[in-house]
Amino acid sequence: MTALDTLQRDLDTLERSGRRRALVPVQGRDFASNDYLGLAGSTRLREAVAEALARGVPVGSGGSRLLRGNAPEHERLEDEAARFFGSEGAVFLGSGYCANALLFSTLPQRGDLIVHDELVHASAHEGIRLARADAVGFAHNDPQAAAEAIARWRQAGGRGTAWIAVESLYSMDGDRAPLADFADLAERTGAMLLVDEAHATGVFGRDGRGLAGRLDGAENVITLKTCGKALGCEGALLLGPAPMREFIVNRGRQFIFSTAPSPLMAAAVRESLRILRDEPWRRERLHALVGRAQAALAGLGLETSDSPIQRVVLGDDRKTMAAAAALQDRGFDVRGIRPPTVPVGTARLRISLTLNVTERDVDALVGALEEIL
Ligand code: PMP
Repeated sequence: MTALDTLQRDLDTLERSGRRRALVPVQGRDFASNDYLGLAGSTRLREAVAEALARGVPVGSGGSRLLRGNAPEHERLEDEAARFFGSEGAVFLGSGYCANALLFSTLPQRGDLIVHDELVHASAHEGIRLARADAVGFAHNDPQAAAEAIARWRQAGGRGTAWIAVESLYSMDGDRAPLADFADLAERTGAMLLVDEAHATGVFGRDGRGLAGRLDGAENVITLKTCGKALGCEGALLLGPAPMREFIVNRGRQFIFSTAPSPLMAAAVRESLRILRDEPWRRERLHALVGRAQAALAGLGLETSDSPIQRVVLGDDRKTMAAAAALQDRGFDVRGIRPPTVPVGTARLRISLTLNVTERDVDALVGALEEIL
């Protein structure tokens, strides 16, 4: 069998199990993107990019940050982001995936322990696979289970640092981590706390700083704010104490050996942070949409989330994909999410709410959902 035959066989297996994925053209009303505040196509972001181009900001960075790729726009963004979120240091990276890979593979050292929620994102798992430290998962949103994992490790002779990893808002469930409890646990056990704010950034907290906004600035907290979701851009910011930034610049392979993100994107993200401050109406309108969707979904007897991420767990993969297709046929871009993205037996419709739709769209979607279910 040739190499390509082997790949084809795997694709056939995916097909038979109903898990083969396909790229489809985007159509229908947006109930699928993470563009929560409707910024991706906004006039202000377009104009910020046009203005940056006009004043000579280059399209490409031309190299890694430690070579000639370190543009003034990167440093400006990092300074402003650190100030905005209240941290000592910020590092801008090309994606949240890259930031998570870097975080877990760079900061925890040999002899440390990564203690992570079992539902952390695939990109965190990527970093954990590359990490020098050992790792152990704990039951979703259970600080007690995390505490027990740390205690067991200490009893077995673990002497390094524990790194507790959670998401503030879970991407496929729309539920929140009990952050205050995890912060207490970190304080009590001398652990570091890593909070992935991919889906909370821009949506929650004062001026959209996220759910961990109050923790930013603490010496034992590092947060990841991605720029490709509510901020409407691309890339990610790691925020933490100043030595974190220095260490990443010296030891972060994904930072050192990769071409720096486009300076234009850095300029756009800077504008997004300003929009978060200047246009609170975007968050207000989003939360009003969320409230409306929650009331309507609860009317169908469904469980809801007070976040822009609503899940309708159907369990069966094929049933879920058929329901998504039926909604798509009616003009609603709702996607089905299957394993391995979510645990086996929990396939679901993921309905995201963004300013790209109106209240009327939300009502119509819930009406269609009622018919289909
Ligand atoms: N963390 C979480 C929780 C995510 O949902 C995602 C994106 N799906 C990422 C990290 C990766 O971020 P990016 O899309 O910027 O690579």
